[in-house]
Amino acid sequence: MKHLLFLFLFPVAAVLSCSSGNTGNGTNPASVQQSSPVNPYYSRTDTARLDLPDSVWKKVLPPEVYEVARHAATERAFTGKYWDFEGTGTYSCAACGNALFRSDAKFSSTCGWPSFFETVRSGSVEYRTDKSYGMERTEVLCGRCGSHLGHVFDDGPPPTGKRFCMNSVVLDFEPDTRD
Ligand code: FE
Repeated sequence: MKHLLFLFLFPVAAVLSCSSGNTGNGTNPASVQQSSPVNPYYSRTDTARLDLPDSVWKKVLPPEVYEVARHAATERAFTGKYWDFEGTGTYSCAACGNALFRSDAKFSSTCGWPSFFETVRSGSVEYRTDKSYGMERTEVLCGRCGSHLGHVFDDGPPPTGKRFCMNSVVLDFEPDTRD
């Protein structure tokens, strides 16, 4: 199937051995892209549930976002725009604009994907058991649109001990404004 061309399976060992650290290197991404402007469902303020058919998502999302968000593909480690990015602001779902994480909950996990120890609010994500690839993991989905974001593990830092291991491509970063 066509979408399998975009599927980058990450090494199991890398996931299982991933540990938390204290700092990132502070490198800014070359460009902090926002979601596609042709997506009429994208909103930073509307929290109403979105239940759209796959055919609609395929039309309104960039292909690389679509493959991760709607088909649970995984971007290759150390290739995403946010894995070592340090900026002050909010990370939202790139498919629908739903706020997911604050930058002060982000930590350097050394595993090559942006990692957070807590979500911005309890309903910002939802969870599902994922038994693919011979593992049992907890999949993290957007609480508004149900898009796949990544997985959550129990080896994160205090105060939660959680590690939300996310794909950069399904995140949009909006820096805080200085007023
Ligand atoms: Fe979403």
